[in-house]
Amino acid sequence: MSANNITIIPSAKWLPRGGKPMILAGPCSAETEAQIMQVAEQLAQDDRVQLIRAGVWKPRTRPNSFEGMGAEALPWIAKATERFGKPFVIEVANAEHVRMALDAGLKHLWVGARTTVNPFSVQEIADALEGKDIPLFVKNPINPDLQLWIGALERFSKAGLHKLVAVHRGFNTYQDHVFRNSPNWEIPIELKTKLPEIEILVDPSHIAGKRSLLHEVAQRALNLAFDGIMIETHPDPDHAMSDPKQQLALKDFSAFIDTLETRQLDFEDAVSIDRLQRLRALIDEIDYNLLENLKRRMEVVEEIGTYKAESGVAVFQLERWLEIMKDRTDHGQAGDIDPALVQSIWKAIHNASIKRQSEIVNKQLRERDIFGI
Ligand code: PEP
Ligand code: MN
Repeated sequence: MSANNITIIPSAKWLPRGGKPMILAGPCSAETEAQIMQVAEQLAQDDRVQLIRAGVWKPRTRPNSFEGMGAEALPWIAKATERFGKPFVIEVANAEHVRMALDAGLKHLWVGARTTVNPFSVQEIADALEGKDIPLFVKNPINPDLQLWIGALERFSKAGLHKLVAVHRGFNTYQDHVFRNSPNWEIPIELKTKLPEIEILVDPSHIAGKRSLLHEVAQRALNLAFDGIMIETHPDPDHAMSDPKQQLALKDFSAFIDTLETRQLDFEDAVSIDRLQRLRALIDEIDYNLLENLKRRMEVVEEIGTYKAESGVAVFQLERWLEIMKDRTDHGQAGDIDPALVQSIWKAIHNASIKRQSEIVNKQLRERDIFGI
């Protein structure tokens, strides 16, 4: 299925912001009327903020945790919007949420990562919104599956929703990671390459998982020419009912945004510079992935070295080396990669591996005093 049949109306047409980044800010969850009023009062005065976010129904990993205030919070949001004049955006995960949100006068919605992952849920929401054409922010699925993300955008577009904005919130990983959700920047970059007209926001809160990393992730988003950020902002983050570690304090919000460097949009040839930047960012990410894989490979080499040292097995095994060279060369050729390139890379990698394993074996022999020194 091609991604090209997705019609998207750029936000400049429905949410003018004069070429500046789009900023969505507000608490992870709506907790009390007072909290919503406090957030709305401050953020409504900040012209850099287009929409205030607040989760009403919270998709939580485990039961028995705070699952949002639900419908009770909707009148608070309606009241705050009316009083301070800035619209809210909330998360919907099923048709009933859509109905209640629209009944409460909400004009902007988002679909969360745990919903985008499920085509049945996405279709249910698309059906409930059929023909409404309200702005919809679509977070990436929790797993790094670009097709699933595009599939969700496609389902919404087919339902007549064209004010679509993608939100990159990182991807779930099983291994421990500096970030709560791995950014895999190459995936949203690829989305932009496939759907150049779509705007993509970055959610530093759910990528970072901790306050200390928010700035780095938000700045990275702007450096990579993404269109803005959705950032969790709470009057008292440490006591927040959900995601306390990652929310920005409301009092720090303005300074946080001040220190973000926005990219220049007024180059003479902005289109080609933009394109070059995206492609270079893609190269950077691919290289980081190569380095990460190289690091992991070296860790395994290290383990094999220790094992060989303990078992008295030779470091270099010709048969295995010939097998690797043939396999990698064939594999590369299947993907149109020059055999000479593959062989020179793997020779370098193999040499480094042999060197490392020899060091391990020699160290063990020294420890056993085999050399008599
Ligand atoms: C949220 O924005 O609070 C949220 C639940 O996000 P995600 O769907 O990205 O996990
Ligand atoms: Mn959250």
